[in-house]
Amino acid sequence: MPESEILRSRLEELIDNFKHELQGDDLRTKVIALIPAYKFLNKLGSSLIPIDSAAARDRILYYFRKYPFVVISKDEIMVIAGISEWARRLRELRVELGWSIISGTTAKEMAKEGEFIIDGIDANEIKAHQYILTSQTQDKVAAYRWRVANHIRKTDLSVRNKLLEYFKKNIGDQISGEELRYVADEKTEWARRVRELRTEFGWQIATKTTGRPDLPVGFYVLESDRQAPEHDRKIPDPVRREVLQRDKYKCHSCGWSYEQWNPSDPRHLEAHHIKHHVKGGKNIAENLITLCNICHDKEHAS
Ligand SMILES: [Zn+2]
Ligand SMILES: [Zn+2]
Repeated sequence: MPESEILRSRLEELIDNFKHELQGDDLRTKVIALIPAYKFLNKLGSSLIPIDSAAARDRILYYFRKYPFVVISKDEIMVIAGISEWARRLRELRVELGWSIISGTTAKEMAKEGEFIIDGIDANEIKAHQYILTSQTQDKVAAYRWRVANHIRKTDLSVRNKLLEYFKKNIGDQISGEELRYVADEKTEWARRVRELRTEFGWQIATKTTGRPDLPVGFYVLESDRQAPEHDRKIPDPVRREVLQRDKYKCHSCGWSYEQWNPSDPRHLEAHHIKHHVKGGKNIAENLITLCNICHDKEHAS
């Protein structure tokens, strides 16, 4: 007989016996009589996950990986984790171990900045205590970054500067929204501040919709340690998206595209004003072209 079936029949017995306790008058007797039923119910839940590991964290991960891009509620996680500290285990997976499990809260904050685009899922419908796995790949260096995040989080920098500091410590790395939210000390403004670092301050922070279509939803990369020239800032994200899509994510001058990226030639794409912003050039798609950073530098040097 499979373990689940054994547990189920034991539970049935216990509930059946409880019928008798329920008729009694003593509250404490009833509570104590229910304890074994609770324990068996917990075991039954964890026995549903067909892996050998005794660790609740592994069961939670198994469940998410079986249902990527599906909104999972905390109640489901409770059932399969079978322990009361499921929340801590889930947090370890999300923040410390580099699994891209996004909470409803984070999804909403990202959606406000146009960074949460998953077919068939409306970020505004996801509840705070629902979660969604957006990538099957674990980010293995996340554990190292975790220490850095922890350190920056505790400084008294502004939220924006904490985020920038963290990005600068991890140039070229994919950083999850959950990590950034953590660095920002769980402040709701984190997603807006990240967007401002890009649009107002000219830091080359790319996402799936702003220059790096290869990235999974929910990840951010600071491409290099340099700010865009003053006149190429303040481009609203929707305009940047339009320009990149129109130019098929290729440099208008040399044709470089992200697929050609390699460590010895780490280029990235930027948006350049045809008629310079300071000279009255508008922040509209018609006045912008996609250039790689090398051609962009040449363009401004000439
Ligand atoms: Zn180029
Ligand atoms: Zn330019």
